[in-house]
Amino acid sequence: ANLNSQITSKIYLITIIKMSILVLKFGGTSVASVELIESAAKIVKSEYEAGNNLVVVVSAMSGATNILIDHVNKINYDDDSEYDVVVSSGEQVTAGLMSICLNKLGVPSRSWMGWQIPIITSDSHRNAVIKRVIPDAILKNFDDKKVAVVAGFQGISSDGRITTIGRGGSDNTAVYIAAALNAERCDIYTDVDGVYTSDPKMTKNVKRLDKVSYEEMIEMASQGAKVLQTASVESAMKHDVDVNVRSTFNPKDMGTKISNDIESDNQAVTGVAYSKDEAKITLIDVEDKPGVAAEIFNKLAESSVNVDMIVQNNFIERKMTNLTFTVPMIELERSIKLLNDLKQKINFSKVLEEKNLSKVSIIGSGMRNQPGIAAKMFDCLSKNNINIEVISTSEIKISVLINREKTEKAVSELHSTFNLDKI
Ligand code: ADP
Ligand code: ASP
Ligand code: MG
Repeated sequence: ANLNSQITSKIYLITIIKMSILVLKFGGTSVASVELIESAAKIVKSEYEAGNNLVVVVSAMSGATNILIDHVNKINYDDDSEYDVVVSSGEQVTAGLMSICLNKLGVPSRSWMGWQIPIITSDSHRNAVIKRVIPDAILKNFDDKKVAVVAGFQGISSDGRITTIGRGGSDNTAVYIAAALNAERCDIYTDVDGVYTSDPKMTKNVKRLDKVSYEEMIEMASQGAKVLQTASVESAMKHDVDVNVRSTFNPKDMGTKISNDIESDNQAVTGVAYSKDEAKITLIDVEDKPGVAAEIFNKLAESSVNVDMIVQNNFIERKMTNLTFTVPMIELERSIKLLNDLKQKINFSKVLEEKNLSKVSIIGSGMRNQPGIAAKMFDCLSKNNINIEVISTSEIKISVLINREKTEKAVSELHSTFNLDKI
């Protein structure tokens, strides 16, 4: 009997070891209709039948979040906590629908809202930061052989209010849950079959990358490659989560892997990203003395305005400067108002704004040890008669601000200048 029970417990242990935990996330375009949710559920079913413990994270149906935001904006009244109640509701709908589809397919499941798990966040509504995911309830779900369907994008603050974690945030929900459960992998299912050298919906001759390092993916995402939300890649790097970007429409393909064990191949340029959502602000004749820049940028930071490129021109003889910087288009109006409020405190003669701009960036870790990349980029743009308004760089990226109408041209010319169509 003793031997028997030893054998049984060994088999039991082996079964536990064999059963991996996987997190599967389906983005808005993958759940855009009930029919699409039904076919996504079939992908879940085949992973379930392969013997995995599964968490399925869902986004709102494509376009749903924008409609909810428009509803709130019509009222013209700032109420951040109720904004999150409204805007988070799109994910509740898809989580319920996905769970119904799974149950119908014979895959036992139930839905979980962020607060039910709970996913605990900071209380900065609209852009809350995930602090902790308590995995116990989901693990209990696995004991009952159930798939846990989790509404992405939402959490709960320490004072019990619903929060949302920023646009595109379901990617981050998925990565955080994968980290909390020590999952084998986090699969991000979307409408393209991986990460490409540039946006496959805009540029011709793009090539799929089989693997990308965390640091390159962070730069690509933050410069506009929205295939993954930047914060989600940062979380994956921090918690060592393996992420695969895969296609809902071709689920056999493993897509692009983003992981810790990926060494950059030291190519100077790995990808070209763009963002059409940039606005430029210039403060004219700002007093040139210590503390002024701190005053300006603190004011914007306090209101969660994300300032990106910054340039200051000094007129030494006049003790004046012009200060230019970029903010996301959606934050332009708010930024101008904040700056005008500051006018009493710091002296400047006027604020200028410019909207018709894009930021185009080249990214590659090989840039670190190859000189001349910036020169080659500027040369390419000048040959194509594209004027550069502002430049910013980091160790592995160079960004330029240009006229928005030239975005497609700039991206495709840079893509071929750096031989990305040939890899
Ligand atoms: P989801 O709804 O699944 O979250 P997103 O629309 O947020 O999907 O992200 C997928 C989109 O990202 C693709 O349709 C593609 O147009 C865009 N994209 C931008 N840059 C890239 C890139 N370098 N590689 C792949 N996709 C990219
Ligand atoms: N539904 C949210 C958005 O559209 C979150 C997400 O899809 O990741 O931003
Ligand atoms: Mg997305």
